[in-house]
Amino acid sequence: MRKPVIAGNWKMYKLLGEAVDTALALKPLVANANHCEIVIAPVFTALKTVADRLEGSNIKVAAQNCSTEVSFGAHTGEISAEMLKDSGCSQVIIGHSERRQFYRETHGSVNRKTKAALAAGLTAIVCVGEMLAEREAGSAENVVKGQLVSGLDGLTVADMESIIIAYEPVWAIGTGKTATPEQAQEMHGHIRRTLAETHGKEVADNTRILYGGSVKPDNIAVLMSQEDVDGALVGGASLEAESFARIVNYK
Ligand code: PEP
Repeated sequence: MRKPVIAGNWKMYKLLGEAVDTALALKPLVANANHCEIVIAPVFTALKTVADRLEGSNIKVAAQNCSTEVSFGAHTGEISAEMLKDSGCSQVIIGHSERRQFYRETHGSVNRKTKAALAAGLTAIVCVGEMLAEREAGSAENVVKGQLVSGLDGLTVADMESIIIAYEPVWAIGTGKTATPEQAQEMHGHIRRTLAETHGKEVADNTRILYGGSVKPDNIAVLMSQEDVDGALVGGASLEAESFARIVNYK
C-alpha cells in the first residue's frame, strides 16, 4: 500500500516571515489529512525556522537541493545533506528540471546527491522528466529511463525505501499545461516497469511516483485517480496555503 505524498516546492519565493506565515496558515487547513504525507520545500534560509514552527505537526520539511559532497570541507556556498537534516529537514528534492536546465546538474551529480541524501538519513525526491522536443521526437520514455537508471545507479533495495520519484514533464512545469491523466499514467507505468528492471518488482510496487507540472486544486483528483500516480509535486499552486491545502485535501 503506497501512501500518497503531496509535496510543495516553493522554489526561490518567500522571505523568512512569509514562509513562516504560509506554513502556519497551512497547518490547521491540513491537520486532518491522514490520507497522505504532506511536505513543503522552502528556501534554504527558511528551513530551520519553518521546521521548528511545524514541529509536532503532520507537515514535513524538505530542501530543494543539497551538495554532492558529504564531508565538511572547502566547498564554499554548498550545503550538505547532513546540514539539512540538522536543520530539521526529513526530505530533499534532487535533480529538479530547473536545476538540470539552468544549473548544469548532470545524471552524475543527481546520483551523487541522491547518495549523499540517503547517507544523511533523508528521503530523496528524485525528479525526472522530458523536454517538449524530446516528447515530440518520441523519445520521452527513453529519456526518463536514462535519468532513472543513472540517477539511481548503485542504490540497494534497502536504499530504495527512502526514494520517491517525481515525474515532471518539463513542458508542463509552470506553463499551465498539465499532462493529461492518460499521459501521466502512461509514463508512471513506464517508470514502475523501469524500477522493476533496475531494483525488482517489490521495489517497483512500493515506490511512490509523484506527478508534477501545473497541478492545481481542480486537476489533482483526476490525476490521483490514475493507478500509478501516488501523489504530486506542486510548484506555483503550493505558494498559497489555501490552494495547497485544497490539493492536499483532494479526497
Ligand atoms: C515544480 O516546481 O516542481 C512544479 C511542478 O511547478 P508547477 O506546479 O508550478 O508547474
